[in-house]
Amino acid sequence: MRKRITIFGATGSIGENTVDLLIRQGGAGAYDVVALTGGRNIARLAEQARELQADLAVTAYPELYEDLKTALDGTGVEVAAGPQALVDAADRPSDWIMSAIVGAAGLVPGMRALQHGTTLALANKESLVTAGPLLLATAEQNKARILPVDSEHSAVFQALVGEEMEAVERIIITASGGAFRDWPIEALEKATPEEASSHPNWAMGQRITVDSASMFNKALELIETKEYFGVDPKRIEAVVHPESLIHALVGFRDGAIMAHVGPPDMRHAIGYALNWPERADLPVARLDLTEIGQLNFRPACEKRWPALRLAREVMEAGGLTGAAFNAAKEAALDAFLARQIKFTQMSEVVEAVLDRLSRESGLTNDAISLEKVLEVDHLARQTAVSVVQMIEQ
Ligand code: NAD
Ligand code: MG
Repeated sequence: MRKRITIFGATGSIGENTVDLLIRQGGAGAYDVVALTGGRNIARLAEQARELQADLAVTAYPELYEDLKTALDGTGVEVAAGPQALVDAADRPSDWIMSAIVGAAGLVPGMRALQHGTTLALANKESLVTAGPLLLATAEQNKARILPVDSEHSAVFQALVGEEMEAVERIIITASGGAFRDWPIEALEKATPEEASSHPNWAMGQRITVDSASMFNKALELIETKEYFGVDPKRIEAVVHPESLIHALVGFRDGAIMAHVGPPDMRHAIGYALNWPERADLPVARLDLTEIGQLNFRPACEKRWPALRLAREVMEAGGLTGAAFNAAKEAALDAFLARQIKFTQMSEVVEAVLDRLSRESGLTNDAISLEKVLEVDHLARQTAVSVVQMIEQ
């Protein structure tokens, strides 16, 4: 039977890489593409839907419904728009769903997919950060599988094949260090959104690229590691590795370390999740170790990247702290991109929000439910906006 596929966030960086792999692996002749979703890039979404002969194309924005309808006129592709239409798309029977919307907006469709027992290829790390225990419990109850797509987590997942978690002593995830790795710390204050939006090794969406420069991306990934693999936060480390060739390492209790090495190309992690448990030929570069010559590692300095310290606090606190952290981070990122705050003030905003909410709402007391997560997400965004306003005055 042909695998039924849905892609949330098909027009983004991860989405495009997923589409690329599907086409290389036979496209509409090899897969039943159930639904593709996107945002404002209607022309590209329509093109993908046509090429993959999708049953349904959904834009997240209701006002773009007519545009999408016109773009797909006469193709037989159904069209829908808006947040509810995204959730409805997750209700359509599928075997493999790629979760590649950026931000907390990816949580609800992903949860719905798991409720149907569908395999969820999870690029949307924000889902695990905001609602990790809920996501895993939902997967377990419905016999759904979550396959990690973030490159570090795919690397750990692969290093753990055939291993027992009891034998794991430590998990080390690597960080390129982002755009400002070699800048003097004092200069970071003046960093602009344009400067933060270029990445030394990876081509990704703008938000995750800026998050790489601030290390908020790595902060999210540390929390993601704790949630997905269920390891004690004390056993999770981050190390700066400028070449981005080793993606993660797993240390075992006998002292052995398994490292995952590969080129910085997301099609490896996406392709692993797409073909799992088998391995398929993937169009990624093959490394020549003698050409690479050497690999470098440096400590991930919490003074340069306060986001890493905050991640430790979030991992220790647990509960709804991750939801507050992620939402405050998203709002702080918006404020930085809008030039309302400085690059270095993003972590100040997030810290202020966490302080205020843990004092006022007790983020660790409540059990995690989807309602609670969405409530805390909303509250943290509102609080972040007021902190930004205070900074601006
Ligand atoms: P992107 O910005 O390139 O694409 C995001 C996609 O989500 C687009 O299709 C966009 O239309 C859609 N979208 C945006 N806001 C939406 C909303 N509110 N509702 C519905 N759809 C919306 O992002 P990306 O770089 O592809 O990242 C996607 C996810 O994958 C993120 O969670 C990111 O952290 C994760 N990730 C990305 C990479 C990478 O290499 N790009 C690597 C690891 C993990
Ligand atoms: Mg990553």
